[in-house]
Amino acid sequence: MHTFSVAQRAEWLHLIAEQTFELIIIGGGITGAGIALDAAARGIKTLLVEKGDFAGGTSSRSTKLIHGGLRYLKQMEVGLVMETGREREVLHRNAPHLVVPEKMLLPLVKNGTYGTLATSFGLWVYDKLAGVKEDEQRIMLDKAQTEQQEPLLRTDILEGGGLYIEYRTDDARLTIEVIKQAVARGAICLNYLQADGFTYNKQGKINGVVLNDRLGNQSLTVHADVVVNAAGPWVDEVRAKDLTKPNTNKHLHLTKGVHIVVPYYRIPLRQSVYFDVPDGRMMFAIPRGHVVYLGTTDTSYYDSPDTPRATQEDVDYILSSVNNMFPTVQLSVKDVLSSWAGLRPLIHEEGKSPSELSRKDEIFVSEGGLISIAGGKLTGYRKMAARVCDRVAKWLHVHRGKQTLPAATDQISLCNNAFSGREAVENYTAQVATRLAQDGLEKSYAQFLVFNFGAATETILATFDRIKLQHPNVQVAMALAELDYCYRHEMVATLSDFLIRRTGRLYFHRRTVEPLVRPLALQLAAWQNLPTTVAEMWEADFLKTYQAAVEFLPAETHAVMVA
Ligand SMILES: Cc1cc2nc3c(=O)[nH]c(=O)nc-3n(C[C@H](O)[C@H](O)[C@H](O)COP(=O)(O)OP(=O)(O)OC[C@H]3O[C@@H](n4cnc5c(N)ncnc54)[C@H](O)[C@@H]3O)c2cc1C
Repeated sequence: MHTFSVAQRAEWLHLIAEQTFELIIIGGGITGAGIALDAAARGIKTLLVEKGDFAGGTSSRSTKLIHGGLRYLKQMEVGLVMETGREREVLHRNAPHLVVPEKMLLPLVKNGTYGTLATSFGLWVYDKLAGVKEDEQRIMLDKAQTEQQEPLLRTDILEGGGLYIEYRTDDARLTIEVIKQAVARGAICLNYLQADGFTYNKQGKINGVVLNDRLGNQSLTVHADVVVNAAGPWVDEVRAKDLTKPNTNKHLHLTKGVHIVVPYYRIPLRQSVYFDVPDGRMMFAIPRGHVVYLGTTDTSYYDSPDTPRATQEDVDYILSSVNNMFPTVQLSVKDVLSSWAGLRPLIHEEGKSPSELSRKDEIFVSEGGLISIAGGKLTGYRKMAARVCDRVAKWLHVHRGKQTLPAATDQISLCNNAFSGREAVENYTAQVATRLAQDGLEKSYAQFLVFNFGAATETILATFDRIKLQHPNVQVAMALAELDYCYRHEMVATLSDFLIRRTGRLYFHRRTVEPLVRPLALQLAAWQNLPTTVAEMWEADFLKTYQAAVEFLPAETHAVMVA
């Protein structure tokens, strides 16, 4: 029995080289993860390969909302509103610790995107279409009530507001939880394994993938009946490696979205706000613990998908939009603690601007049988996966006579049924907070642990109790306990895997990161029997790479790494 740990990477690689799979998935973002879980649950023998870390692409750089699909209503995409509304119910039920209701205020402003009547009607339709629970249905506010609800709002253009519920998540955590469930059902999922090309049978159909192990620098070929390309912004790059006809002229249109993070005290919002910006777009301001994240932008992107960056223009645009709607805060670039830039893998439509491009997903199948899926949203990942797996199941039935199990991911808990609902999560968080208080850790730490790790918090706390005696600094001891869990159960291989995608620390707890880097690096190196000098090199590399809050800034303009 292999554990989902980089410590067993050699065994995993040995195992896959010896097997033929029914399905290989290229890409370990939410789309690939969802397909792996759906396929494994149907009894399909599945391998997923990810060239970097799981969720290292767009799936750690979104707005982190499980949308009810309000914006689709404006574009009259009624089917999409219904689908996303139902999806968020399913996701909340299956991961109540990680998909949490978030009150959202939509201020109505003069000449804004949404008028009062249209909003009232639109949100009512949305409640009905999306099947919103009664206690979460929209409340319309007049101007005075809206001002009271959110005193930081600009009042001269305010006409009223609508309060409704969105669901907040962490995209990278959602991805890893889905992957872990896929692995629990027999899928093999490996990060740092890049698909470099395909092999073909005599009929010219794809029957395998050439892989490059980026940690061991070796190449291997693995065979499969069906190959799915779920490479997000890299979908076209992977399609280009297929030597057969693409069967369509369609291609991606990447658009970049940037978010910035500022301290909560600089913009102490009472809830999340979805507000108009002067150029006619809409933007989110979302409080999360001690910070607020703000975004996003939407601009066409033509450079390498490997290196999207926030530019000075992106950050200025977000800051001026926020300062326009919340004039008393007057944020400046010096307030920015961290930032991320993600790429939307949308399907190109001639003559349409980035914001007008449909977020719908599409499937393309090449002459050689490569199934590529692009477009879509984090929110709709389960439905996208089901559509792909229906095709794979059909292929296996027709060509191999295999009868697969029916799709059932709506019934798969992403917390191993640890929580019956939100109340159970809140009760558990309160218990954890009481335990942590004995060690002088704040209540917010309990929220952080339960949001990120759900019931696995127990494993982390047990390790913490064991190692805290050796570590006078409880913050370090707790981070080491989290690392221990992520190393043994979540395929963490590098500092960034842990500090960005498993815990979100670099984005949301930036000021706590620096003192942790050295002990974490030393521990990672020790587990791999590597000398201290390697740990020091990792530490230096990490600090250098992430020194500036926004990449265009010279590091010295920011004291972000200083606690
Ligand atoms: C700014 C922004 C905000 C967004 N906000 C939201 C939101 O709030 N809610 C929502 O529902 N959706 C949102 N979205 C959309 C959502 O984030 C994306 O639709 C989703 O994350 C795409 O996931 P993916 O798996 O298709 O792509 P990715 O997450 O990019 O995954 C693709 C993976 O393929 C891997 N890969 C590429 N090439 C290879 C190869 N050759 N071999 C192996 N692996 C390879 C990459 O490393 C990558 O990890 C947002 C998107 C952006 C950009």
